Amino acid sequence: MSCYQWIKRLWVLSAVFIHGAFFAQQEPASVLSSYIRIQSVSGHEKQAALYMQHLCDSMGLYTSVFSDSDSSYNFCASLLPLPSSKPSVLLLNHLDVVPAEDPGGWKFPPFSGAVHQDTIYGRGALDMKGLAVMQLFALQAFKQTHGNDSLKYNVAILFLSGEETGGKNGAATLMHSEWLSRLNPAVVFGEGGGGLRGAVPGKENDLCFFVSNAEKKSLWLKLEVNVRSRGHGSVASVNNANKILLRAIDKIERSERRIYIDKSTQKTFRELGKVMGGTRGFIVGHLNWWIFKPFRKKVVSENEAMATLVTNSYQLTRLQNPGGSVNQVAQTATAFYDCRLLPNKSERPLFMKFLFRIIDPRIKITVLDESPEADPSELGVHYEALQKAILSEFPQAHVLPVLFPATTDNSYFRQANIPAYGVLPFVLSPSMMESVHAGNERIPVQALGQGIRVYEALLNIYLKR
Ligand SMILES: [Zn+2]
Repeated sequence: MSCYQWIKRLWVLSAVFIHGAFFAQQEPASVLSSYIRIQSVSGHEKQAALYMQHLCDSMGLYTSVFSDSDSSYNFCASLLPLPSSKPSVLLLNHLDVVPAEDPGGWKFPPFSGAVHQDTIYGRGALDMKGLAVMQLFALQAFKQTHGNDSLKYNVAILFLSGEETGGKNGAATLMHSEWLSRLNPAVVFGEGGGGLRGAVPGKENDLCFFVSNAEKKSLWLKLEVNVRSRGHGSVASVNNANKILLRAIDKIERSERRIYIDKSTQKTFRELGKVMGGTRGFIVGHLNWWIFKPFRKKVVSENEAMATLVTNSYQLTRLQNPGGSVNQVAQTATAFYDCRLLPNKSERPLFMKFLFRIIDPRIKITVLDESPEADPSELGVHYEALQKAILSEFPQAHVLPVLFPATTDNSYFRQANIPAYGVLPFVLSPSMMESVHAGNERIPVQALGQGIRVYEALLNIYLKR
Protein backbone atom coordinates (compact mmCIF):
# COMPACT_ATOMS: atom_id res chain seq x y z
CA MET A 1 0.00 0.00 0.00
CA SER A 2 1.40 3.38 -1.01
CA CYS A 3 1.84 6.28 1.38
CA TYR A 4 -0.93 8.08 -0.37
CA GLN A 5 -3.32 5.15 0.15
CA TRP A 6 -2.46 5.02 3.87
CA ILE A 7 -3.14 8.72 4.29
CA LYS A 8 -6.40 8.34 2.42
CA ARG A 9 -7.45 5.40 4.61
CA LEU A 10 -6.54 7.28 7.80
CA TRP A 11 -8.47 10.27 6.61
CA VAL A 12 -11.58 8.16 5.89
CA LEU A 13 -11.29 6.43 9.29
CA SER A 14 -10.96 9.70 11.17
CA ALA A 15 -13.82 11.16 9.19
CA VAL A 16 -15.99 8.18 10.17
CA PHE A 17 -14.91 8.54 13.80
CA ILE A 18 -15.52 12.29 13.95
CA HIS A 19 -18.77 11.82 12.06
CA GLY A 20 -19.83 9.14 14.57
CA ALA A 21 -18.85 11.15 17.62
CA PHE A 22 -20.60 14.16 16.15
CA PHE A 23 -23.79 12.22 15.61
CA ALA A 24 -23.68 10.62 19.05
CA GLN A 25 -23.65 14.06 20.66
CA GLN A 26 -26.47 15.53 18.64
CA GLU A 27 -29.77 16.58 20.10
CA PRO A 28 -33.04 15.20 18.69
CA ALA A 29 -34.13 18.68 17.58
CA SER A 30 -31.03 19.34 15.51
CA VAL A 31 -31.18 15.86 13.98
CA LEU A 32 -34.80 16.42 12.99
CA SER A 33 -33.94 19.82 11.56
CA SER A 34 -31.15 18.31 9.41
CA TYR A 35 -33.36 15.39 8.38
CA ILE A 36 -36.11 17.78 7.21
CA ARG A 37 -33.53 19.69 5.13
CA ILE A 38 -32.90 16.56 3.03
CA GLN A 39 -35.94 16.66 0.77
CA SER A 40 -37.44 13.20 0.39
CA VAL A 41 -40.67 13.62 -1.54
CA SER A 42 -41.97 10.13 -2.44
CA GLY A 43 -39.80 8.58 -5.14
CA HIS A 44 -36.60 10.28 -3.93
CA GLU A 45 -35.93 8.87 -0.49
CA LYS A 46 -32.35 7.65 -0.83
CA GLN A 47 -30.38 10.68 0.42
CA ALA A 48 -32.57 11.06 3.50
CA ALA A 49 -32.28 7.31 4.10
CA LEU A 50 -28.48 7.42 3.92
CA TYR A 51 -28.41 10.23 6.46
CA MET A 52 -30.54 8.23 8.93
CA GLN A 53 -28.63 5.06 8.21
CA HIS A 54 -25.28 6.71 9.05
CA LEU A 55 -26.81 8.04 12.22
CA CYS A 56 -28.01 4.55 13.21
CA ASP A 57 -24.55 3.11 12.44
CA SER A 58 -22.88 5.77 14.57
CA MET A 59 -25.14 4.81 17.49
CA GLY A 60 -23.93 1.23 17.30
CA LEU A 61 -27.12 -0.23 15.85
CA TYR A 62 -27.05 -2.95 13.18
CA THR A 63 -28.37 -1.69 9.88
CA SER A 64 -29.74 -3.95 7.13
CA VAL A 65 -30.70 -2.58 3.73
CA PHE A 66 -33.65 -4.36 2.07
CA SER A 67 -33.56 -2.41 -1.20
CA ASP A 68 -31.44 0.55 -2.25
CA SER A 69 -32.79 2.36 -5.30
CA ASP A 70 -33.61 6.07 -5.08
CA SER A 71 -37.35 5.44 -5.28
CA SER A 72 -37.37 2.37 -3.05
CA TYR A 73 -34.75 2.63 -0.33
CA ASN A 74 -35.78 0.52 2.64
CA PHE A 75 -33.72 -0.41 5.67
CA CYS A 76 -33.89 -1.24 9.34
CA ALA A 77 -31.71 -0.51 12.36
CA SER A 78 -31.81 -3.18 15.04
CA LEU A 79 -30.39 -3.89 18.48
CA LEU A 80 -29.34 -7.41 17.49
CA PRO A 81 -28.05 -8.35 14.03
CA LEU A 82 -30.50 -10.01 11.63
CA PRO A 83 -31.59 -12.70 11.54
CA SER A 84 -31.77 -13.07 15.30
CA SER A 85 -33.41 -15.96 17.08
CA LYS A 86 -35.65 -13.52 18.91
CA PRO A 87 -38.94 -12.03 17.73
CA SER A 88 -38.79 -8.30 16.97
CA VAL A 89 -40.63 -5.33 18.32
CA LEU A 90 -40.79 -3.07 15.26
CA LEU A 91 -40.94 0.71 15.40
CA LEU A 92 -42.17 1.80 12.00
CA ASN A 93 -41.69 5.08 10.14
CA HIS A 94 -41.55 6.25 6.56
CA LEU A 95 -38.79 8.21 4.85
CA ASP A 96 -40.94 9.97 2.29
CA VAL A 97 -42.95 13.14 2.61
CA VAL A 98 -45.65 14.76 0.49
CA PRO A 99 -44.60 17.80 -1.59
CA ALA A 100 -44.96 21.31 -0.19
CA GLU A 101 -47.26 22.70 -2.84
CA ASP A 102 -47.62 26.23 -1.57
CA PRO A 103 -44.26 27.40 -0.23
CA GLY A 104 -45.75 30.92 0.09
CA GLY A 105 -48.17 29.64 2.74
CA TRP A 106 -45.29 28.76 5.08
CA LYS A 107 -43.84 30.88 7.86
CA PHE A 108 -40.41 29.37 7.03
CA PRO A 109 -39.40 27.62 3.79
CA PRO A 110 -40.84 24.06 3.92
CA PHE A 111 -37.47 22.31 3.67
CA SER A 112 -35.52 24.68 5.91
CA GLY A 113 -35.97 22.72 9.14
CA ALA A 114 -36.12 26.12 10.85
CA VAL A 115 -36.18 26.13 14.65
CA HIS A 116 -38.17 29.05 16.00
CA GLN A 117 -39.37 29.47 19.61
CA ASP A 118 -38.64 25.84 20.48
CA THR A 119 -40.58 24.56 17.49
CA ILE A 120 -39.18 22.78 14.45
CA TYR A 121 -40.81 23.71 11.15
CA GLY A 122 -40.81 21.81 7.90
CA ARG A 123 -42.36 19.13 5.73
CA GLY A 124 -42.24 15.83 7.61
CA ALA A 125 -41.90 17.38 11.10
CA LEU A 126 -44.98 15.39 12.12
CA ASP A 127 -45.50 13.01 9.18
CA MET A 128 -43.27 11.32 9.91
CA LYS A 129 -39.64 12.34 10.29
CA GLY A 130 -40.34 13.52 13.83
CA LEU A 131 -41.45 10.03 14.84
CA ALA A 132 -38.38 8.46 13.27
CA VAL A 133 -36.17 10.72 15.40
CA MET A 134 -38.15 9.82 18.54
CA GLN A 135 -37.83 6.10 17.78
CA LEU A 136 -34.11 6.41 17.19
CA PHE A 137 -33.30 8.36 20.35
CA ALA A 138 -35.53 6.07 22.43
CA LEU A 139 -33.69 3.02 21.10
CA GLN A 140 -30.32 4.68 21.72
CA ALA A 141 -31.28 5.44 25.34
CA PHE A 142 -32.60 1.90 25.76
CA LYS A 143 -29.37 0.44 24.37
CA GLN A 144 -27.23 2.61 26.65
CA THR A 145 -29.20 1.51 29.71
CA HIS A 146 -29.58 -2.18 28.98
CA GLY A 147 -26.99 -3.16 26.40
CA ASN A 148 -27.88 -6.17 24.28
CA ASP A 149 -27.91 -8.81 27.01
CA SER A 150 -30.89 -10.57 28.52
CA LEU A 151 -33.26 -9.26 25.87
CA LYS A 152 -36.29 -11.40 25.12
CA TYR A 153 -36.99 -9.39 21.99
CA ASN A 154 -34.94 -7.80 19.30
CA VAL A 155 -35.96 -4.20 18.59
CA ALA A 156 -35.79 -2.80 15.07
CA ILE A 157 -36.69 0.56 13.58
CA LEU A 158 -38.04 0.25 10.06
CA PHE A 159 -37.37 3.13 7.65
CA LEU A 160 -39.55 2.61 4.59
CA SER A 161 -40.13 4.42 1.29
CA GLY A 162 -43.30 5.33 -0.53
CA GLU A 163 -45.85 5.33 2.29
CA GLU A 164 -47.47 8.48 0.96
CA THR A 165 -48.01 6.85 -2.43
CA GLY A 166 -49.62 3.68 -1.11
CA GLY A 167 -46.68 1.65 0.20
CA LYS A 168 -45.89 -0.22 -3.03
CA ASN A 169 -42.20 0.87 -2.91
CA GLY A 170 -41.84 0.23 0.80
CA ALA A 171 -44.08 -1.87 3.02
CA ALA A 172 -45.38 -4.00 0.13
CA THR A 173 -41.80 -4.70 -1.01
CA LEU A 174 -40.82 -5.78 2.49
CA MET A 175 -43.88 -8.03 2.79
CA HIS A 176 -42.79 -9.98 -0.28
CA SER A 177 -39.11 -10.27 0.62
CA GLU A 178 -37.17 -12.71 2.76
CA TRP A 179 -36.42 -9.85 5.16
CA LEU A 180 -39.82 -10.27 6.74
CA SER A 181 -38.93 -13.69 8.16
CA ARG A 182 -35.48 -12.43 9.20
CA LEU A 183 -37.19 -9.64 11.11
CA ASN A 184 -39.65 -12.09 12.65
CA PRO A 185 -42.03 -9.32 13.83
CA ALA A 186 -43.99 -9.80 17.05
CA VAL A 187 -45.66 -6.41 16.86
CA VAL A 188 -45.47 -3.12 14.95
CA PHE A 189 -45.84 0.38 16.37
CA GLY A 190 -46.34 3.00 13.66
CA GLU A 191 -48.21 6.20 12.96
CA GLY A 192 -51.91 6.77 13.53
CA GLY A 193 -53.84 8.59 16.22
CA GLY A 194 -52.36 10.90 18.83
CA GLY A 195 -52.92 12.78 22.05
CA LEU A 196 -55.75 15.30 21.79
CA ARG A 197 -57.32 17.57 24.33
CA GLY A 198 -61.06 18.17 24.29
CA ALA A 199 -61.80 15.52 21.67
CA VAL A 200 -64.52 13.89 23.77
CA PRO A 201 -67.86 15.74 23.97
CA GLY A 202 -68.38 17.27 27.41
CA LYS A 203 -64.76 16.64 28.49
CA GLU A 204 -63.02 19.67 27.07
CA ASN A 205 -60.02 19.54 29.43
CA ASP A 206 -59.36 15.83 29.26
CA LEU A 207 -56.40 14.50 27.32
CA CYS A 208 -57.21 11.45 25.22
CA PHE A 209 -54.73 9.33 23.31
CA PHE A 210 -56.30 7.59 20.35
CA VAL A 211 -54.41 4.48 19.32
CA SER A 212 -55.38 3.09 15.94
CA ASN A 213 -55.78 -0.67 15.83
CA ALA A 214 -57.58 -0.67 12.49
CA GLU A 215 -57.75 1.45 9.38
CA LYS A 216 -60.41 2.16 6.84
CA LYS A 217 -59.87 0.57 3.48
CA SER A 218 -59.23 3.04 0.70
CA LEU A 219 -60.82 2.29 -2.66
CA TRP A 220 -60.21 4.68 -5.55
CA LEU A 221 -62.76 4.42 -8.32
CA LYS A 222 -63.15 5.83 -11.78
CA LEU A 223 -66.69 6.10 -13.14
CA GLU A 224 -66.69 6.67 -16.86
CA VAL A 225 -69.47 7.00 -19.39
CA ASN A 226 -68.92 7.09 -23.09
CA VAL A 227 -72.05 7.56 -25.21
CA ARG A 228 -72.56 8.77 -28.73
CA SER A 229 -75.03 11.63 -28.51
CA ARG A 230 -75.68 14.56 -30.80
CA GLY A 231 -72.59 16.70 -30.85
CA HIS A 232 -74.08 20.15 -31.28
CA GLY A 233 -75.01 21.99 -28.09
CA SER A 234 -78.12 23.47 -29.66
CA VAL A 235 -79.89 20.08 -29.81
CA ALA A 236 -81.45 19.06 -26.49
CA SER A 237 -80.70 15.57 -25.26
CA VAL A 238 -81.52 13.87 -21.95
CA ASN A 239 -78.96 11.18 -22.43
CA ASN A 240 -75.62 12.77 -22.99
CA ALA A 241 -72.56 11.55 -21.10
CA ASN A 242 -72.56 14.34 -18.52
CA LYS A 243 -76.23 13.91 -17.66
CA ILE A 244 -75.94 10.14 -17.24
CA LEU A 245 -72.95 10.60 -14.98
CA LEU A 246 -74.55 13.40 -12.95
CA ARG A 247 -77.67 11.30 -12.27
CA ALA A 248 -75.42 8.53 -10.92
CA ILE A 249 -73.49 10.98 -8.73
CA ASP A 250 -76.75 12.34 -7.38
CA LYS A 251 -77.87 8.83 -6.43
CA ILE A 252 -74.58 8.09 -4.67
CA GLU A 253 -74.61 11.40 -2.80
CA ARG A 254 -78.19 10.97 -1.67
CA SER A 255 -77.92 7.35 -0.59
CA GLU A 256 -78.33 6.98 3.15
CA ARG A 257 -75.14 5.97 4.97
CA ARG A 258 -75.59 2.59 6.66
CA ILE A 259 -74.39 2.55 10.28
CA TYR A 260 -72.37 -0.51 11.15
CA ILE A 261 -70.76 -1.08 14.57
CA ASP A 262 -68.28 -3.93 14.48
CA LYS A 263 -66.61 -5.56 17.48
CA SER A 264 -63.58 -3.28 17.34
CA THR A 265 -65.61 -0.06 17.10
CA GLN A 266 -67.88 -1.32 19.85
CA LYS A 267 -64.82 -1.33 22.11
CA THR A 268 -64.04 2.28 21.09
CA PHE A 269 -67.57 3.35 21.97
CA ARG A 270 -67.41 1.48 25.27
CA GLU A 271 -64.23 3.37 26.25
CA LEU A 272 -65.58 6.65 24.91
CA GLY A 273 -68.75 6.18 26.98
CA LYS A 274 -66.66 5.65 30.12
CA VAL A 275 -64.78 8.91 29.51
CA MET A 276 -68.01 10.82 28.83
CA GLY A 277 -69.82 9.43 31.87
CA GLY A 278 -73.49 10.03 32.76
CA THR A 279 -76.51 8.89 30.79
CA ARG A 280 -75.11 10.12 27.50
CA GLY A 281 -71.91 8.20 28.12
CA PHE A 282 -73.88 5.07 28.92
CA ILE A 283 -75.83 5.34 25.68
CA VAL A 284 -72.65 5.93 23.64
CA GLY A 285 -70.94 3.04 25.42
CA HIS A 286 -73.78 0.67 24.57
CA LEU A 287 -74.79 1.99 21.19
CA ASN A 288 -74.68 -1.53 19.80
CA TRP A 289 -77.56 -2.59 22.11
CA TRP A 290 -80.79 -2.95 20.18
CA ILE A 291 -82.71 -0.75 22.66
CA PHE A 292 -80.43 2.14 21.72
CA LYS A 293 -80.88 1.58 18.01
CA PRO A 294 -83.26 4.56 17.72
CA PHE A 295 -80.51 6.83 19.18
CA ARG A 296 -77.77 5.62 16.88
CA LYS A 297 -78.49 7.90 13.98
CA LYS A 298 -78.86 10.96 16.21
CA VAL A 299 -75.69 10.33 18.24
CA VAL A 300 -73.67 9.58 15.14
CA SER A 301 -74.97 12.49 13.06
CA GLU A 302 -74.16 14.96 15.87
CA ASN A 303 -70.48 14.11 15.80
CA GLU A 304 -68.48 13.89 12.61
CA ALA A 305 -65.67 11.90 14.23
CA MET A 306 -68.11 9.29 15.50
CA ALA A 307 -69.78 9.09 12.09
CA THR A 308 -66.40 8.25 10.54
CA LEU A 309 -66.12 5.20 12.80
CA VAL A 310 -69.38 3.59 11.74
CA THR A 311 -70.00 4.58 8.12
CA ASN A 312 -68.30 4.34 4.75
CA SER A 313 -67.40 7.61 3.09
CA TYR A 314 -67.48 8.32 -0.65
CA GLN A 315 -65.72 11.50 -1.66
CA LEU A 316 -66.22 12.80 -5.19
CA THR A 317 -62.78 14.26 -5.88
CA ARG A 318 -62.69 15.04 -9.61
CA LEU A 319 -64.99 15.50 -12.60
CA GLN A 320 -63.59 15.50 -16.11
CA ASN A 321 -64.53 16.03 -19.76
CA PRO A 322 -62.17 16.05 -22.71
CA GLY A 323 -61.44 19.59 -23.93
CA GLY A 324 -63.86 21.27 -26.33
CA SER A 325 -65.98 24.29 -27.01
CA VAL A 326 -69.11 25.36 -25.07
CA ASN A 327 -71.39 24.40 -27.97
CA GLN A 328 -69.86 20.94 -28.21
CA VAL A 329 -71.49 18.11 -26.22
CA ALA A 330 -68.82 15.97 -24.53
CA GLN A 331 -69.09 12.32 -25.47
CA THR A 332 -67.13 11.15 -22.45
CA ALA A 333 -67.57 12.08 -18.80
CA THR A 334 -65.49 10.82 -15.93
CA ALA A 335 -65.84 11.04 -12.16
CA PHE A 336 -63.30 9.98 -9.56
CA TYR A 337 -64.22 8.79 -6.09
CA ASP A 338 -62.00 8.32 -3.06
CA CYS A 339 -63.99 5.84 -0.96
CA ARG A 340 -63.04 4.86 2.56
CA LEU A 341 -64.70 1.66 3.67
CA LEU A 342 -65.09 0.09 7.10
CA PRO A 343 -62.44 -2.59 7.54
CA ASN A 344 -64.63 -5.70 7.71
CA LYS A 345 -64.24 -8.05 4.76
CA SER A 346 -67.84 -7.92 3.54
CA GLU A 347 -67.78 -4.14 3.05
CA ARG A 348 -66.12 -3.97 -0.37
CA PRO A 349 -68.35 -6.54 -2.15
CA LEU A 350 -71.42 -4.97 -0.52
CA PHE A 351 -70.40 -1.52 -1.71
CA MET A 352 -69.67 -2.64 -5.27
CA LYS A 353 -73.01 -4.45 -5.39
CA PHE A 354 -74.74 -1.28 -4.20
CA LEU A 355 -73.01 0.77 -6.91
CA PHE A 356 -73.89 -1.65 -9.70
CA ARG A 357 -77.50 -1.64 -8.50
CA ILE A 358 -78.03 2.13 -8.42
CA ILE A 359 -76.06 3.48 -11.33
CA ASP A 360 -76.69 3.35 -15.05
CA PRO A 361 -75.17 0.21 -16.63
CA ARG A 362 -73.58 2.41 -19.32
CA ILE A 363 -71.18 3.71 -16.68
CA LYS A 364 -67.97 1.74 -16.52
CA ILE A 365 -66.51 1.34 -13.02
CA THR A 366 -62.75 0.87 -12.72
CA VAL A 367 -60.86 0.27 -9.48
CA LEU A 368 -57.76 2.48 -9.76
CA ASP A 369 -56.20 1.55 -6.46
CA GLU A 370 -57.08 -0.02 -3.14
CA SER A 371 -55.36 -0.58 0.17
CA PRO A 372 -54.80 -4.07 1.56
CA GLU A 373 -57.69 -5.78 3.27
CA ALA A 374 -56.84 -6.17 6.93
CA ASP A 375 -58.63 -7.18 10.09
CA PRO A 376 -58.33 -4.95 13.18
CA SER A 377 -55.48 -5.84 15.55
CA GLU A 378 -56.56 -7.37 18.86
CA LEU A 379 -56.59 -5.17 21.94
CA GLY A 380 -54.42 -7.66 23.84
CA VAL A 381 -50.98 -7.52 25.46
CA HIS A 382 -49.34 -5.29 22.85
CA TYR A 383 -52.09 -2.69 22.98
CA GLU A 384 -51.90 -2.80 26.77
CA ALA A 385 -48.12 -2.28 26.64
CA LEU A 386 -48.57 0.85 24.52
CA GLN A 387 -51.36 2.05 26.80
CA LYS A 388 -49.10 1.59 29.84
CA ALA A 389 -46.22 3.42 28.13
CA ILE A 390 -48.46 6.39 27.28
CA LEU A 391 -49.81 6.51 30.84
CA SER A 392 -46.28 6.51 32.26
CA GLU A 393 -45.70 9.88 30.55
CA PHE A 394 -49.28 11.18 30.78
CA PRO A 395 -50.79 9.70 33.97
CA GLN A 396 -54.03 11.71 33.66
CA ALA A 397 -54.74 10.72 30.06
CA HIS A 398 -57.35 8.33 28.71
CA VAL A 399 -56.16 5.85 26.11
CA LEU A 400 -58.72 4.62 23.59
CA PRO A 401 -58.54 2.34 20.57
CA VAL A 402 -59.76 3.86 17.34
CA LEU A 403 -60.42 3.10 13.70
CA PHE A 404 -58.08 5.36 11.69
CA PRO A 405 -59.86 7.05 8.78
CA ALA A 406 -56.82 7.00 6.44
CA THR A 407 -54.55 4.18 5.31
CA THR A 408 -50.93 3.79 6.43
CA ASP A 409 -48.26 1.10 6.16
CA ASN A 410 -49.73 -0.47 9.31
CA SER A 411 -52.34 -2.15 7.09
CA TYR A 412 -49.70 -4.25 5.31
CA PHE A 413 -48.61 -5.75 8.62
CA ARG A 414 -52.17 -6.33 9.78
CA GLN A 415 -52.88 -8.06 6.50
CA ALA A 416 -50.01 -10.46 7.30
CA ASN A 417 -51.59 -11.06 10.73
CA ILE A 418 -48.89 -9.07 12.51
CA PRO A 419 -50.53 -6.85 15.16
CA ALA A 420 -49.96 -3.17 14.40
CA TYR A 421 -50.84 -0.09 16.44
CA GLY A 422 -50.61 3.53 15.42
CA VAL A 423 -50.13 6.58 17.60
CA LEU A 424 -48.20 9.83 17.61
CA PRO A 425 -46.99 9.54 21.21
CA PHE A 426 -47.24 13.20 22.19
CA VAL A 427 -49.84 15.93 22.62
CA LEU A 428 -51.12 17.37 19.35
CA SER A 429 -52.77 20.76 19.23
CA PRO A 430 -55.55 21.29 16.65
CA SER A 431 -53.28 23.62 14.64
CA MET A 432 -50.47 21.03 14.62
CA MET A 433 -52.96 18.46 13.34
CA GLU A 434 -54.10 20.78 10.57
CA SER A 435 -50.50 21.29 9.47
CA VAL A 436 -50.06 17.63 8.42
CA HIS A 437 -49.84 17.55 4.59
CA ALA A 438 -50.52 21.33 4.67
CA GLY A 439 -48.55 24.53 5.32
CA ASN A 440 -46.44 25.23 8.42
CA GLU A 441 -46.04 21.58 9.43
CA ARG A 442 -44.27 21.69 12.78
CA ILE A 443 -43.50 20.01 16.05
CA PRO A 444 -42.49 21.57 19.39
CA VAL A 445 -39.19 20.34 20.86
CA GLN A 446 -41.19 19.43 23.97
CA ALA A 447 -43.29 16.96 21.95
CA LEU A 448 -40.11 15.29 20.69
CA GLY A 449 -39.14 14.67 24.31
CA GLN A 450 -42.58 13.27 25.15
CA GLY A 451 -42.42 10.86 22.24
CA ILE A 452 -38.91 9.67 23.09
CA ARG A 453 -39.95 8.95 26.68
CA VAL A 454 -43.11 7.07 25.62
CA TYR A 455 -41.15 4.89 23.17
CA GLU A 456 -38.47 4.24 25.78
CA ALA A 457 -41.09 3.24 28.37
CA LEU A 458 -42.62 0.94 25.76
CA LEU A 459 -39.30 -0.81 25.09
CA ASN A 460 -38.75 -1.19 28.83
CA ILE A 461 -42.08 -3.00 29.13
CA TYR A 462 -40.91 -5.51 26.49
CA LEU A 463 -37.61 -5.95 28.33
CA LYS A 464 -39.50 -7.11 31.41
CA ARG A 465 -41.73 -9.52 29.49
ZN1 LIG B 1 -47.37 9.30 7.42
